Amino acid sequence: MPLDPGLIDDLVAANRILVDQGVLDGYGHVSVRHPADPQRYLMSRSIAPELVTAADVMEYDLDSNPVDARGRATYLERFIHGEVYRVRPDVRAVVHDHSPSVIPFGVSTAPLRPLYHMSAFLGGGVPVFDIKTASGQSTDMLVRTAALGKSLAQTLGTRPVALMRGHGAVVVGASLPLVVFRAVYTEMNARLQAQALALGGPVTYLDDEEARRAEASVGGTVTRPWELWRRKALGR
Ligand SMILES: [Zn+2]
Repeated sequence: MPLDPGLIDDLVAANRILVDQGVLDGYGHVSVRHPADPQRYLMSRSIAPELVTAADVMEYDLDSNPVDARGRATYLERFIHGEVYRVRPDVRAVVHDHSPSVIPFGVSTAPLRPLYHMSAFLGGGVPVFDIKTASGQSTDMLVRTAALGKSLAQTLGTRPVALMRGHGAVVVGASLPLVVFRAVYTEMNARLQAQALALGGPVTYLDDEEARRAEASVGGTVTRPWELWRRKALGR
């Protein structure tokens, strides 16, 4: 099926932006659902995100089998993407990252909560996926099977973000610009929240109504940073 080259460029840009913003490093991945076939998604072959070019983008089915691998390696944790797309028809883009600031919130009793308006989308709560509970035993911490991917998608439920204990996060959205925005501001909220907690005393978070209103307002502006970040990412 012919693909819009603009979408492939968006996917390449998303990889580079997420590295620029400290969300991805040599690891992690971002995908987009195939615009013409909801049973497929697009993601790079197994390569560091900053190095991704249009030629590295491959098509996968929802079992996360590459449609035409031609010898190219696939990410071990691709099942995260396929299993989320399977159960979330609203989701058109997925990020899996090892975003450093979120890690403490996946391993402690402090829940990640929105403390400023840019991350209001966290207002519905951020669940934590524990792979040991999901698999019933100790693992190498990687979501390397469809069953684990399914379990992670269940933990995510209808939310935009889930943390993965001792590992990272999965972030979803209705578009690449939105999922990139959410991944960036999840990392930033986690950093700011840790700073606020370290100051001591109670921290005031956005209340439910503030979170709903702020998400609606800020949600309409995500193309502004996206256009800036995309231009910088593709201009090199
Ligand atoms: Zn991972």
